[in-house]
Amino acid sequence: MTSITKSLFIMLCSALALGLMGCQDSHQDEHPMTAQTSFLIQDATIVDGTGAVAFQGDIRVVGEYITDIDSVLEPTKGDRLIDATGLVVAPGFIDMHAHVSNIHEYPQAENFMRQGITTIANSLHSHDLPWPLDEYTSNLKMAPNIAYFAGFNWTRKTVMGLDNRTPTDAELQQMKALVRQAMEQGAFGLSSGLEYVPAVFASNEEVAELAKVAANWGGIYVTHMRDEGPNLLESIRDSAEIGKQANLPIHINHIKTTGVSNYGKSVDALELIDSVRASGVDMTLDIYPYTAFMTYSDLLFPPWSLAGGQEEFQKRINDPVQRQKIVMEMKSIFPQQAGKNFDSIQFAQLPHIAGYAGRTLGDYLRDHAIPEIMDTVVEVLIDLHSQGRFVAIYHSMEEADVERFLLYPHTMINTDGDLATTREKQYHPRTYGSFPRVLSTYVRKRSLLSLEQAIHKMTEQSAKRL
Ligand SMILES: [Zn+2]
Repeated sequence: MTSITKSLFIMLCSALALGLMGCQDSHQDEHPMTAQTSFLIQDATIVDGTGAVAFQGDIRVVGEYITDIDSVLEPTKGDRLIDATGLVVAPGFIDMHAHVSNIHEYPQAENFMRQGITTIANSLHSHDLPWPLDEYTSNLKMAPNIAYFAGFNWTRKTVMGLDNRTPTDAELQQMKALVRQAMEQGAFGLSSGLEYVPAVFASNEEVAELAKVAANWGGIYVTHMRDEGPNLLESIRDSAEIGKQANLPIHINHIKTTGVSNYGKSVDALELIDSVRASGVDMTLDIYPYTAFMTYSDLLFPPWSLAGGQEEFQKRINDPVQRQKIVMEMKSIFPQQAGKNFDSIQFAQLPHIAGYAGRTLGDYLRDHAIPEIMDTVVEVLIDLHSQGRFVAIYHSMEEADVERFLLYPHTMINTDGDLATTREKQYHPRTYGSFPRVLSTYVRKRSLLSLEQAIHKMTEQSAKRL
């Protein structure tokens, strides 16, 4: 490892990982941990996460604490020496959104830790919240720090099922009580996945009512917006509206513009976000550095067709009138979600049909001699989905948009990844590679971000947001 940017030597800085700013000196008698091993990291290139220029120096770590940082530190008796010549030392990275509700199945979380991530925001979109949260977390021993959120979707589902309607007053009170309990149990705020059933049926006012509870506790509102394609701008306005109504900071997860019809929209989106910020709403973003997203087949269907779950969907597609309506709407949804052709949809998990993980919708059509035209493709998708929702990787973003969003000063980094618990599943590469890819592609290869800027997006900026 000859060049400092060739490899990052990541070190956990407990103070930053816990959300406190910076790594401060501490006196030995203040920390009982000091009886433990001490390390002296020598001759490191230190990127401290503040965005400040890297500097050369030594770092002493005693137990779990950084006790000293200086240009030269003398080794003391018992120090374990680590020669960091040619290597960078940075605070542990903070992943602003990942799916880790099943951390008990894989507490080592190696696919995160090996990216340098030491803190993960478990801001729920469609996943369930382990409940009761405090009971669940008190029994956990895990490698990363995890910030939990009260999940809007989980809350609505718990109280109202998958119904497509507004809540009664009593139901709204029940939902608010759940959010309050989550906040009492340590949640960092409210998070929503408004593109998914049942949150897709909720109005801005309903979300804002729950966000107000999080605001009372000093929480933030984190969102997977209603739409990331044709109605991207409208969705940003909705998010700002919720922020205004509930008077709390808004953080947009995995900002993107999807669908071949929406390429280039990052310009207008960022202009809008600038004006939202100028109006006094504290709005920030995060991104994963890939031109493909991964999610359920749900988003290829009109939301109303999925209300009530799989059984209701089955009834609707068996009704010729409703089926026709679903087909018509799917034809306009498809180019808004998918890329340039049918190969832009790559199956990750296709239940009931073996041999298609990693292969594309185009492959499926050719294998079955099905014409590659929208009319037949929509029928195939209905057929596959009715056998069970599938998960796919949608190659439907443009690099120029990813780049523009990533370079925006108020954008942080996430993985949107999963815990890689099994070799049986196909995971999106972001699960293993988001943070390294920012450093390799945007810092090292393309020089679009300095190393200091990139680390700032991965550490202090996110710590401040949380
Ligand atoms: Zn999401």
